[in-house]
Amino acid sequence: MNVLQKTMVIGAGQMGCGIAQTLIQSGGEVTLYDIKHAAVNRGMSLIEESLKRLVDKEKLTKEQREQFLAKLTPTISLKNAESVDLVIEAAPEQMEIKKSLFKKLDRICKADTILATNTSSLSITDIASATSRPGLVIGMHFMNPVPVMPLVEIISGLATTEETRVKVKKLTQALGKTPVEAKDFPGFIANRILMPMINEAIYAIYEGVAEPEAIDQIMKLGMNHPMGPLALADFIGLDTCLAIMETLQQGFGDSKYRPCPLLRQYVQAGWLGRKSGRGFYLYS
Ligand code: NAD
Repeated sequence: MNVLQKTMVIGAGQMGCGIAQTLIQSGGEVTLYDIKHAAVNRGMSLIEESLKRLVDKEKLTKEQREQFLAKLTPTISLKNAESVDLVIEAAPEQMEIKKSLFKKLDRICKADTILATNTSSLSITDIASATSRPGLVIGMHFMNPVPVMPLVEIISGLATTEETRVKVKKLTQALGKTPVEAKDFPGFIANRILMPMINEAIYAIYEGVAEPEAIDQIMKLGMNHPMGPLALADFIGLDTCLAIMETLQQGFGDSKYRPCPLLRQYVQAGWLGRKSGRGFYLYS
């Protein structure tokens, strides 16, 4: 990988870890940032475990695993972004959090550092407005789980330059992924189509049409989906699903995107899916 060699990944959750792992496996150097030691350490363990599984499956050697891990540095200091070529932000799906991070990063980073966000649905143009470099701000929407999913949705904001777009598409290809471009509208393409389906599946439970298992089985066996919509929602995180539906509803001003009250209730209960151990299904 010779484009954008040094990266900081912000947020050591499921997406940040997947992105960091993919970058180091492609020869990049990554600083992994989170707000708390516990979060960044948990992220480091997730990546170590994930690479260990690849060694167990004989897809990597032990030496390669060690080489990759040597390229990964954990931090809780945003100041370490001062020497990177690229930042990929994967913090929670809330505009205030993202804008506050981008404002700070704009002050810390070199003048030519590209600031990318892995947002699922939020306006790139709005996030970019928190910086003095909107031309260098772009959406890089990876899919979950990042190491195995081939797509990266690339979203230019109103001011994103052609040079930024080209560099980020080249990097995406260097990671072995396929960049596909979408315009800066709420939910872009992936979640504008996926999330209303998931929301509708939740309405089907809410209205007593069927149990989660039946809904997922119908979509798997009937539509040939590899995962049912409720298992997928648990995998994505129900807080993220709710945040995306709210962005679609507010962004389009159309009631067809209203989040199902049951989804809201699950998030209020802390039933966030796999990451909290309980969502539409139970996880041990
Ligand atoms: P997550 O909850 O697994 O991880 C979020 C991480 O951000 C946590 O480690 C948390 O400690 C950290 N964090 C909290 N506040 C922060 C702050 N102020 N600064 C930096 N880090 C902070 O969430 P996730 O599923 O990894 O999602 C992250 C982003 O990726 C969101 O924007 C989401 O919409 C997007 N995304 C998610 C998926 C998915 O399937 N989950 C897919 C594509 C994109």
